[in-house]
Amino acid sequence: MSVNQFTTLSQSSLQDYVDCARRFQLRYLDKLSYPAVESEPALENEKHQQEGEYFHRLIQQYLVGIPSRQISKMANSANLQRWWENFLNAKVLKGLRDLPGVYPEATLSAPLGRYRLMAKYDLIAVKDGKATVFDWKTYRRRPRNEWLSARMQTRVYRALLVHAGTYINNGTNFDPEQVEMIYWFADFPDEPAHFVYTSAQYKRDWDTLLKLAEEIHSTSSYPLTDDRQKCVFCPYRSYCERGIRAGNADQAEAEMEAEELFDVNFEQIGEIAF
Ligand code: SF4
Repeated sequence: MSVNQFTTLSQSSLQDYVDCARRFQLRYLDKLSYPAVESEPALENEKHQQEGEYFHRLIQQYLVGIPSRQISKMANSANLQRWWENFLNAKVLKGLRDLPGVYPEATLSAPLGRYRLMAKYDLIAVKDGKATVFDWKTYRRRPRNEWLSARMQTRVYRALLVHAGTYINNGTNFDPEQVEMIYWFADFPDEPAHFVYTSAQYKRDWDTLLKLAEEIHSTSSYPLTDDRQKCVFCPYRSYCERGIRAGNADQAEAEMEAEELFDVNFEQIGEIAF
């Protein structure tokens, strides 16, 4: 696939592009969704990822009104049971499904240069004209707020909600100051990360996104990242001669990035559909 046939951007593809243009090329243009080499830590990551996806489904069922007793029976592994208990008892999530505006698994999209920017939210909750984006994370470690703040997800989700969230706000745009994002960590239920938003941040984010979209459209070069830390858990490392085995689990943020690499995203869904 050439970059000109590629039509949709997401926080995942943008994150890949800023982390490593080569990874973006392998994953989205060459469509190498299932890398050749899977080491044991990568298989463990994949299992953890599958449980994480299932946990997201349990929360979605809960938010659409299925009784929690019924959902508890589906939490059928040690991780799922613990995460589910933590979810039910988390202070920051109390009363969530009783709010006036609850939009689980909401999808928003908007044109971004020559592409369409798309994001699927775990939950957008609206109360008193304020929108809170919730994102559930099953990371094994609590990441630093600075790391989260710089992630494309934090920037894309808030910016796109301001840009394209009118349908959940009675036809009016949200002001950036009315938007907040909360990452809730299933293994650290009392340590959520809050990110409020401002007009200045929104302008900065949208300008950055437009610039990235233009760069992705015009580039024909996909260099390997200079930051070899990014390669430690990268599933494509065997294509780049950057090592066969995964790094050790102490490299926490590289590991979290690896968990996200196993996410199925819009571009890959498109490929599967065709
Ligand atoms: S192994 Fe390193 S250079 Fe290769 S795609 Fe992954 S991050 Fe990029």
